[in-house]
Amino acid sequence: MLITGDHLFYYYRCPRRPFLDAQGTAAHNPGESPLHEKLNRDHHDLRTQLLRDYAWQAPQADPQDWAAAHTQTLALMAQGVAAIHRGVLTLTPAPGITYLGRPDLLVRRPGASRWGNWHYQAVDIRLGQRPKPEYQGVAAFHAWLLSELQDTWPTTGLLWLPGPRSVRVRLADAVPAMHKTLVACTAILQAEQAPEVFISRSRCQLCPWLGDCSQVAQAQQHLSLVPGVTALRYAELRQLGIATIPQLASQSPHYLDHQTSFGLATVTRLVRQAQAIQRGHALPLGPFPALPQEPVELFFDIEAEPHLDCVYLHGVLVVKAGRPAFHGFLAPHPQGEGEVWQQFVDLVLTYPAAPIFHFCPFETQTIQRLGDRYGTPRLKVQAILNRCVDLHAWVTRHVVLPVDNYSLKAIARWLGFRWRHPRADGAQSIWWYNQWLSSQNPSYLEALQVYNEDDCQATYRLKTWLDDFHQATAQSPLQEESG
Ligand code: SF4
Repeated sequence: MLITGDHLFYYYRCPRRPFLDAQGTAAHNPGESPLHEKLNRDHHDLRTQLLRDYAWQAPQADPQDWAAAHTQTLALMAQGVAAIHRGVLTLTPAPGITYLGRPDLLVRRPGASRWGNWHYQAVDIRLGQRPKPEYQGVAAFHAWLLSELQDTWPTTGLLWLPGPRSVRVRLADAVPAMHKTLVACTAILQAEQAPEVFISRSRCQLCPWLGDCSQVAQAQQHLSLVPGVTALRYAELRQLGIATIPQLASQSPHYLDHQTSFGLATVTRLVRQAQAIQRGHALPLGPFPALPQEPVELFFDIEAEPHLDCVYLHGVLVVKAGRPAFHGFLAPHPQGEGEVWQQFVDLVLTYPAAPIFHFCPFETQTIQRLGDRYGTPRLKVQAILNRCVDLHAWVTRHVVLPVDNYSLKAIARWLGFRWRHPRADGAQSIWWYNQWLSSQNPSYLEALQVYNEDDCQATYRLKTWLDDFHQATAQSPLQEESG
């Protein structure tokens, strides 16, 4: 059995992932998301940047032929080359088990080892802003493999994070923790059955097995499909024998309130949420209030590139008497941020009574930030903020929907809205903008404007539905409206 650094890395995120990676075939693998592709590109760019600083050599063997690549890596280490890229480290501690690590770089350091008066330290490139447990775990794994192969420990593990900046990993803490995790990961890989599925939006959205796991979860009516059922809450519900959506939907909130630690408001919402999914209907959480209604309404969405600290697009859909017109204020270069901010301010001040609908708090936070950055009078900024209405907060406060998460994409798709770029997301927009900056190819700008306009249109669709839902519940308070 071959146990790799990738198995260990993904085990930290989800015990099911290494099992599927080891057992699955490409035919079952549905491929990567645009976000995953962007992360691969970012990893490639960061690696290119790092490698520029080293006179590195690489094993010539086919990377798939890891035994030959390992032998060549050891030969390069024995020669004492300055750095090794695509090195392969393996260890067979017992018959039938081989550990395999592929650090991004091995860097020669002073200090005795079996090779002579030098040894090697592994460098791992990661894309998070902080040294997450899985980063440190794999760094410790590589350090351990090195210690066995060169008869000495590197002083630390080393992570290379965006910035770029380097972060040292304290091996005295990280290695014992890694060994515990490695034992658990090995047991999973030796098991016959896959670990239980648990769909979690934050960790599953990047996983190529999401399609397969979603099918399994759907077939089981698994509770992880209910927004708000976290792994900790699921453990408590399982103790009570509640493992499926129908089982949760049939519970009394008051009974669950006594049996769990969640609190009455949370259990009431969870039960209602399970009922909404089971019935395929939206359900109000109480009296359903009306949203602001004006002859002119604005629907607002921002695109920003955090690495450039730049808001490059303010998209505003102006709806007058039911007729929408889109305005996209786009900065063709990051220095144009102030100009497009002013264009946005000028437009919204043209309609002083129009409510500004948006989805999630990012837009209002950004208005505040850009107002400070460009010295916009505070009263003016406050007047704009007072008109903003966050539809995400509105939805999650007043209604449950038959969706598995409350992103704009999930809600608007349930309402039948379709994006012209079906797989695009915020990360894709950032990638398009960076491609435009480097290539000046206008098709990238067109793509990100279309995506932004569709986000504004989706927000408009949601607002229209909320108005209709309000009317339906006002006319018949006990009626359960469908989407
Ligand atoms: S989709 Fe989610 S549950 Fe399935 S393997 Fe990936 S991370 Fe785990």
